[in-house]
Amino acid sequence: MRRTISLLGSTGSIGRQTLAVAEELGTPVAALAARSSVDAVEAQARTFRPKLAVLYEMEPALELAKRLAGTGVRVAYGMEGLLEAAALPEADVTVTALMGMVGLRPTLAAIRAGKRIALANKETLVCAGELVMEEAMLWGAEIVPVDSEHSAIFQCLQGCRERGEVRRVILTCSGGPFFGRRREELAGVTRADALRHPNWAMGPKITVDSATLMNKGLEVIEAMRLYRLPLERVAVVIHRQSIIHSLVEFHDGALLAQLGTPDMKLPIRYALTWPERAASPDAPLDLLTCPPLTFAAPDTEAFPCLALALEAARTGGTACAVLNGANEAAVGLFLADKIGFLEIPALVAQALHTIPIAVHPTLEDILAADEAARRAVEACLVRS
Ligand code: MG
Repeated sequence: MRRTISLLGSTGSIGRQTLAVAEELGTPVAALAARSSVDAVEAQARTFRPKLAVLYEMEPALELAKRLAGTGVRVAYGMEGLLEAAALPEADVTVTALMGMVGLRPTLAAIRAGKRIALANKETLVCAGELVMEEAMLWGAEIVPVDSEHSAIFQCLQGCRERGEVRRVILTCSGGPFFGRRREELAGVTRADALRHPNWAMGPKITVDSATLMNKGLEVIEAMRLYRLPLERVAVVIHRQSIIHSLVEFHDGALLAQLGTPDMKLPIRYALTWPERAASPDAPLDLLTCPPLTFAAPDTEAFPCLALALEAARTGGTACAVLNGANEAAVGLFLADKIGFLEIPALVAQALHTIPIAVHPTLEDILAADEAARRAVEACLVRS
């Protein structure tokens, strides 16, 4: 079946790969949205001829509107624009690849419009997972994960008729560029060191999250929400080769895994075509030449971000929104060379341990917790 997509976050790593997949599959693109990149969105709009192009920031949107005059592509801006793109009647699938909390309201809008959500914005599920999953249930919206680990689990669960048969899910983790180092060896690592991921080419924020292991912590929470599992039933194992993308362990002891080369185009393609599988032009994994597969336990002492994420997951309520907001702010400061690598977990811990937690949060409580966490991180910087 040929589906039409609306792509939120078209200029990031997932967005660009989604357009590559759309081109390969002949998938029409009804809407494109990004934060502020005029040149990139102009080029994408000229190639894919969407009905609507959105830039979140107003000034760049006005410039884009000028450049796209006469092309038939309408330009919108701001949260209104994102919400319109998310729920556009022409689209069947909304790909949510915006980075950060700005993706939350558009995801909810797409759910309420009954779209399939190809979910690549993990912050949405981390901060407001219970709310998002409840709404999806209520409106009958399908949520198909794009995150490679969660896609692997989703694939392993096809044909599983009884969710009670799942004992646990096991997320694999590459360990990032600093695997094997002790805590004291991480004090002096730089932004450039952290951006050197061994297996995956991704945007800077998620690459730093992979270096601190916060990414895996966020993914544990994401898996709990997506698959409605308690924390005890989500495990993490270090797997340096990133060939096994994750596993499901069933209660008869069977382990199902999805293997492949580390290429985001596979989970993107699957999210667009599920329950069908579309043919891929790329060469599959060659078992005879792939490296030996190894596994290890994660070191939460050297990488406290993972432990902090598990703590937030255990606390629940707005704790995950505080964790995520503080982390986004701290990673932003690290990428701007304003703090060191070890200050990321320190600032996240401080926010998590000082900001009051709401136990049964509304959307407003979640957004307020996110704001408070960001302010707390910035306030620490001013004091130091
Ligand atoms: Mg992932």
